[in-house]
Amino acid sequence: MKLDIIGDIHGCYQELQTLLDDLGYQWENDQIHHPEERQLAFVGDLTDRGPRSLDVIRFVYQVVVTQKIGYYVPGNHCDKLYRYFLGNNVKQQHGLETTVAEYEQLSKHEKEEVKQMMMTLYEESPLYHVINKLDAVIAHAGIPEKYIGRHDKKVKTFVLYGDITGEKHADGRPVRRDWAQDYHGDRWIVYGHTPVLESRFVNQTVNIDTGCVFGNKLTAFRLPEEEIVSVQSTMPFVEEKFRY
Ligand code: MN
Repeated sequence: MKLDIIGDIHGCYQELQTLLDDLGYQWENDQIHHPEERQLAFVGDLTDRGPRSLDVIRFVYQVVVTQKIGYYVPGNHCDKLYRYFLGNNVKQQHGLETTVAEYEQLSKHEKEEVKQMMMTLYEESPLYHVINKLDAVIAHAGIPEKYIGRHDKKVKTFVLYGDITGEKHADGRPVRRDWAQDYHGDRWIVYGHTPVLESRFVNQTVNIDTGCVFGNKLTAFRLPEEEIVSVQSTMPFVEEKFRY
């Protein structure tokens, strides 16, 4: 089994297609495939802030649900969009407003279609994927070894939001601990969530959220090769979003 795991996309559909092209994927009769039969995985946060969030949902739905050649785990932005589609009263901020604006442009039929896609993706996906054949675990904000195999609320909060203490910095950012420093497992933990300028390898973990939507790049981690492939973002660079 060969897998290409894609970092946080946040509506950057164009960069996603460029990256897939660089990875060797090909389109044939509206189906995507790789000559080496590689599969795709997504660490979550498909939407918000970027220009084509709905096209990213349609694409990931096709790969994961229709063609069944991919894996998806939800991110915190996916969770919020799902709750919006449920009809919950969620604040349209932190990028959700851009996805909702795209959604509002659609016809009634198109709305129903994309909403169904997102809800199906979310409902059919586990909090994290354990890929035994590659000795890898995919979780949006990472996962400490002791949580692998658990699916309770504490684990859900961790995989969606990361290692937060509940406290906040003076500027409002949540205080985060660095779980990866304490990870001593043998399996790869592949995650995103916190934008970094370069893929961050710590022990057997790698953060592949290289902040495409903030103007840096979109990154894939390939297994079993343990290779990084990135494409440059077309978005304006927002320096303060990167902390490493
Ligand atoms: Mn994200």
